[in-house]
Amino acid sequence: MSETILEIRGLTKKYGELTALNQLNLEVKSGTIYGILGPNGSGKTTTLGIVLGILNASSGSFSWFGNGELDENRKRIGALLETPNFFPYLSAVRNLEIVCKIKGLENTEVAIEEAIKKVRLWNRKDSKFKTFSLGMKQRLAIASALMGDPDVLVLDEPTNGLDPQGIREIRDLIREIANSGKTVIIASHQLDEIEKVCTDVIIIKNGVTLKESKIDEIMEGNLEVVIGTEEFDKAKTIASSMNGINNVREKEGKLYLEIDENTNAKTINEHFHKNGIVLSHLGNYKKSLEEQFLELTEEGGEQA
Ligand code: ADP
Ligand code: MG
Repeated sequence: MSETILEIRGLTKKYGELTALNQLNLEVKSGTIYGILGPNGSGKTTTLGIVLGILNASSGSFSWFGNGELDENRKRIGALLETPNFFPYLSAVRNLEIVCKIKGLENTEVAIEEAIKKVRLWNRKDSKFKTFSLGMKQRLAIASALMGDPDVLVLDEPTNGLDPQGIREIRDLIREIANSGKTVIIASHQLDEIEKVCTDVIIIKNGVTLKESKIDEIMEGNLEVVIGTEEFDKAKTIASSMNGINNVREKEGKLYLEIDENTNAKTINEHFHKNGIVLSHLGNYKKSLEEQFLELTEEGGEQA
């Protein structure tokens, strides 16, 4: 059984009239890279602010490590909510020394060296912070969140504003941190980022949960068989009444058949053949996370 790192129950946040977060539930298990995905303004930062003790919830509860809200658990959590205020004229090393002082950590020389190496800034360790690129600044911020060797790392939009190279460096770094045994929670509006790095995802919009799932299951649950034929209308009628097909949609002259677990391209081919229809195209199709995300966020989450 994997440990529960963070559990959120019925979390609601109101800013005056606006309900920024509405009855949010989620559970983060140890060893996962958990993505909180949603368009801008969906309540991601609000959620992280609450669980990190920066904001008060209007109602609902959360618990870290099955152990209550925060006090006891603070040291086990490393967080990066926005690019922290490092001192521009001090070096990477000096800045981390100051972070460690603030965190009350002692004998940190080795830990600082390890963290700077991990985020690939060792060759720039003595450079002033202000000379760093945005990607380097963000990596130093991750090093800072790692000081004190937390069990869980919380990152809010860690790749915002970075170029593709910088995004890739952060993504590799997140994977490496997860491989070293830490749990990672990432809020992002960038689908790509979540799809490529996360193991689990919750999709929210306007504070309302649209879906919570393992990434693999999202990808699996949406297998369709796509067919093409000259006898389109007849095929459509046959598909609509076939057992094992849950939904039929048309796109660009093809039929997309959502199938259950007992149905596959072969059984569909046989069925059409029996009914005298020749298929000119037959294949499997997986909706990307992006298509699903767009479908979900277009349908759901509108505020009353
Ligand atoms: P996200 O991080 O997903 O972009 P936020 O959590 O920052 O979303 O914001 C959620 C909603 O709450 C937005 O509509 C935002 O405008 C609103 N909001 C955030 N902070 C405040 C605040 N301090 N006062 C009033 N409204 C706020
Ligand atoms: Mg935000």
